[in-house]
Amino acid sequence: MPSPVGHGMIGLSIGLLYAWPRGARIQRMTETLKQQRVPLFLAVLLANLPDVDYVPGILTGDLNAYHHQYTHTLGWVLLVTGGVWLIWRAWRPETGMREAVFVFACLMSHLVADWFTDDGAYPFGIMLWWPFSADYTIAPQHLFPRPIKEDWAEVFTWHNVRVMGIEFLITLPLIPLALMVKRILPSSSRRP
Ligand SMILES: [Zn+2]
Repeated sequence: MPSPVGHGMIGLSIGLLYAWPRGARIQRMTETLKQQRVPLFLAVLLANLPDVDYVPGILTGDLNAYHHQYTHTLGWVLLVTGGVWLIWRAWRPETGMREAVFVFACLMSHLVADWFTDDGAYPFGIMLWWPFSADYTIAPQHLFPRPIKEDWAEVFTWHNVRVMGIEFLITLPLIPLALMVKRILPSSSRRP
């Protein structure tokens, strides 16, 4: 699994695709970022949410005990997408399909990134297709390196700082790419 850096950067790029106004001037970037901080923050949060399965492990003293199980499945992503969308709709009645796709994309990006990450512990990968299949699956070729995280003491190592640096460099181009897509999209895709 990538660290919150990799997942956060991917989430941020999806957030930009969703929330960045078309034609926003680069000179007013700080102002636009401030205006769109809620959806951008939500995107980063959702892109990291499947790793909530570390919490019971942290509480019971075995960091990885519950990691890479049901929160890393298509079934969980669909369930949470529905839940978040219903809350969003209760808060903003104009919430529609665009918001559902946004939430799904943020959550699903986590699974895809983990699928592309080197995994040193059996079972390798994630139960991506649960409830349709409980088999673990992993990409034939990894993109992200493996962090060391057998326990808390190992989490804070130079190796993991290096891993986060690599994740940052791999995902960095997604940010200008998302901004570029917002510039070239036809005006009909503009948010009302
Ligand atoms: Zn994960």
